[in-house]
Amino acid sequence: MTDDPDVFPCTRCGKAIYHAQTYCPHCGLELYPQGGDEVPAAPVIPAPRQPSFFRQCWRRLIGLEARENNLYLELLQRVNFNQERAQYLLDAERALAPEVSRSRLLTRVIAKLDGGG
Ligand SMILES: [Zn+2]
Repeated sequence: MTDDPDVFPCTRCGKAIYHAQTYCPHCGLELYPQGGDEVPAAPVIPAPRQPSFFRQCWRRLIGLEARENNLYLELLQRVNFNQERAQYLLDAERALAPEVSRSRLLTRVIAKLDGGG
């Protein structure tokens, strides 16, 4: 080996290569492959997947159901867990307001019970 700074060892065979050379004269390793100076393309990072429309609807539905269940539980607490009484109140309120959603119905019944009728 030599101390010549223009000489470096081949990464494949370890023998001396001069800087001016583009390939190893001993093993033929190509030192500057075509395109080697180009900046490698950034790795493609997949964008986080947006929840599908269906999934968003489903989540909304789950949230709605959880809300309804909570409201129904609140109603049951106010009628001492008498489900017949709760259903009677809901039916009565439904007759008054046939258009409203179930959660709105529950809210109205609870409000009436809280307000003393
Ligand atoms: Zn070599």
